[in-house]
Amino acid sequence: MKKTIILLSMNLLLLSNLFSQKEPEATEVWFPEARVVTPADNNAPPSDAIVLFDGKNLKEWSSINNDAAAEWNVADDCMTVTKGKGNIKTKREFGDIQLHLEWRTPAVIESKGQGRGNSGVFFQERYEVQVLDNYENKTYSNGQAGSIYKQHIPLVNACKKPGEWQTYDIIFTAPKFNKDGIKVSAAFLTVIHNGVLVQNHVEIKGTTEYIGQPQNVAHGKASIVLQDHSNPVSYRNIWVREL
Ligand code: MG
Repeated sequence: MKKTIILLSMNLLLLSNLFSQKEPEATEVWFPEARVVTPADNNAPPSDAIVLFDGKNLKEWSSINNDAAAEWNVADDCMTVTKGKGNIKTKREFGDIQLHLEWRTPAVIESKGQGRGNSGVFFQERYEVQVLDNYENKTYSNGQAGSIYKQHIPLVNACKKPGEWQTYDIIFTAPKFNKDGIKVSAAFLTVIHNGVLVQNHVEIKGTTEYIGQPQNVAHGKASIVLQDHSNPVSYRNIWVREL
């Protein structure tokens, strides 16, 4: 009798488990919860963003060379490359991030190819997403706007005309190195240019070199760098979210 009751209750338990697995609630996850971030209109920073440039000053930036004050020109709510002042970098250092920035190449066309509105956004001071005026301006495909310089051609050319503001929304996953300095996980980049996907989670092979092969020397968090390539490219509305 006792054995029959035990077998019966076991069967009931199995039946109830079988039944519950068929309920939609069985696959609902309620914890942990996604925290609330308040978005903003017109590409303004969301509530958890770190603002790196709001058009007013360069207090979040320094010169790449000697940690001195960044000397690019700030006027009309944007910063502009001042030829010869060199690359600038964020004082903060970052790992995985989402970055928003807006850039504008000169309206007056004075050159062609790589000489027309050249600048760049370097992640961790090493990995460049090219900034270039490629509106009806041909250059090597893996060096045009939206390319990962010398590594990945953009899926499409989404450039606006010179003199118009353009947006980059970029997701960067940092590389990982073990304690022996060996890279155990590659960096990845996703780039959206003017709302158009141009790099879809592409693997970064190492540093984006002008000449030579990508390098993979171990490093940790590092700055975002904007390039002085002698052309007066402007930037505005720069913010980042740490991931
Ligand atoms: Mg460049």
